[in-house]
Amino acid sequence: MSPAPAPNTALALAAAIRAGERSAVDVLDEHLARIEAAEPEIHAFNVVNAEAARPVAEAVDRRVADGEDPGALAGVPLALKDNLCTRGVPTTCSSKILEGWVPPYDATVVERLLASGAVVVGKTNLDEFAMGSSTENSAFGPTRNPVDTSRVPGGSSGGSAAAVAAGFAPISLGSDTGGSIRQPAALCGVVGVKPTYGLVSRYGLIAFASSLDQIGPFATTVADAALLLEVIAGHDPADATSIPQDVPAISDHLDDGVAGLRVGLVSELMGEGIHPDVAARVREAADALAAAGATVEEVSVPAVTYGLSAYYLIAPAEASSNLARFDGVRYGLRVDGATTNEMMVNTRTAGFGDEVKRRIMLGTYALSAGYYDAFYGKAQKVRTLICRDFAAAYERFDVLLSPTSPTTAFELGAIHDPLTMYLNDICTIPTNLAGHAAMSVPFGTGAHGLPVGVQVLAPALGEVPMFQAAAAIEAAAPTSEEASS
Ligand code: GLN
Repeated sequence: MSPAPAPNTALALAAAIRAGERSAVDVLDEHLARIEAAEPEIHAFNVVNAEAARPVAEAVDRRVADGEDPGALAGVPLALKDNLCTRGVPTTCSSKILEGWVPPYDATVVERLLASGAVVVGKTNLDEFAMGSSTENSAFGPTRNPVDTSRVPGGSSGGSAAAVAAGFAPISLGSDTGGSIRQPAALCGVVGVKPTYGLVSRYGLIAFASSLDQIGPFATTVADAALLLEVIAGHDPADATSIPQDVPAISDHLDDGVAGLRVGLVSELMGEGIHPDVAARVREAADALAAAGATVEEVSVPAVTYGLSAYYLIAPAEASSNLARFDGVRYGLRVDGATTNEMMVNTRTAGFGDEVKRRIMLGTYALSAGYYDAFYGKAQKVRTLICRDFAAAYERFDVLLSPTSPTTAFELGAIHDPLTMYLNDICTIPTNLAGHAAMSVPFGTGAHGLPVGVQVLAPALGEVPMFQAAAAIEAAAPTSEEASS
C-alpha cells in the first residue's frame, strides 16, 4: 500500500475536500494568503483571480454537501501558464502585443480542469510567447526562484514552476516546446512533465512551434503530476494532432516498482557542458534505480548532439508563421500608421520584445527561397536522424536517463548572450523533436544547495514506464537535510 500523500498535495487536498473533512473555500483562502505574502517578491503571476476563484470553490463545497461527485481535482487550487486561453480572463503570453485581448473561449485543458473541480487561482508569468529559459523575457518583468530569489526560476514556464515551488498552488500547467516545463521544474525543485506529442490537446494553447508544443503538469510529487496528466489528457477532435486513444492509466501503475526495467543513461548528455554536480546526481539516481531492481547501462544516442541546431531553425520557422497573426487587426495592441502596412509595422515593432523579433527574423530567413534547403530542409533531416537514433535506443531500453538542465538555477541577469541561453535546453530539446515523452524529477542538490532535476525520457506513449521510473527516483531522492549535509 502506498503511504498517505503529504497534506498539501493535490491528491490529499482533493481527498479531504471530497470527504467533507476540509472545505474548498478554506483551502483556497490558505493558498491566497500564501500568494499575498510572497507574490510581491516572486512575481509568479500575471494575474491572480481571487474573486473569480471563490464562487468556483463554493460550488465544489455545495456539491460535496449535496452528495454529488465534484471530480478528481475537487477544490484543488491550480495555476495556468498565461499562454492558455481562458474565457473572459486576459491571456497575454507575457507580451505587450496581446494587451487588452480577452479570449472568447477556454482551452480544452481548461475545460477539463474545470469539469474536474479544480479552482484556477491565476495566470502565470512566462518568457514572451514561451521563448526563453529564464522568464526574464517577459514584458512584465521576471519571476524569481522561490528556492533563492536572487536566481531565475528557469523558463519559459517559470511562473508555473515558481507558483508550485512557493506553495501558491499544489499543481499548475505549463507548455513545453523545447524544455519549458522540464527545465524550470528542475531549477525550482518540482516535478514537470512533457507528455507525448498528441496526448494532450493543444486547442486553446497560443501556438509557438506547432510541431513541438505540448501542454503538461507541474506538481510537488510524481503522483500529483500523474493525476493532473490523467485529467487533461485524451482525444480532442478540436486538435488535429490529438491521438485518438484512451488516456493511459498512469496512477494505477505508479507503485509497480522498476524490477526488470531497462534504463539507458544517455552518454552524449553526461559529458561536456554538464556541470559535474548535476552529472553526479544523475549517476546517483541511476544507481538508485539499479538498487531497486532495474538494469542500468550507458547508451549512445549520437544525433541528440545536433538537437539544439535543428531546433533553432525549426522552432523559429514555425514561430515566424504562427506569430504572423499578431498584426494589429485581429488581436490586442494596435499602433496606428498612415497605411495598413505602416500600422502593422508600428504594431509589431512596439508589441514584440527583442527575443521574439530575433526568432521571427531567424525563422523567416531559414524559410526564405534560396535558404530553405540549406537551413529548414536540413534541420528536418536532422530531426529524422534524432528519431532514428532514439528508436534504436528504445529497442534495448524502456526509458532513458539524463540531466534535465546542464546547470542549477543561475542568477537573474547573469546570461546576456542568446546563444548561451539556448544551451539550457541541450538535454530537453531532442525529446520535443522526436515527439516523445519526458519528465524532470528533483533529485538532491548541486552547487549552492540548489535543486537538481533528473530527466526520465520515454518513447511515444511510454508514460507508464516513465512515471514508474520517476516514482522510484523520487522515493530514493535524498531529503533536504541529507542533501545539504
Ligand atoms: N527555451 C526554449 C526556447 O526558448 C524552449 C522554450 C519552450 O519550451 N517553450 O525556445
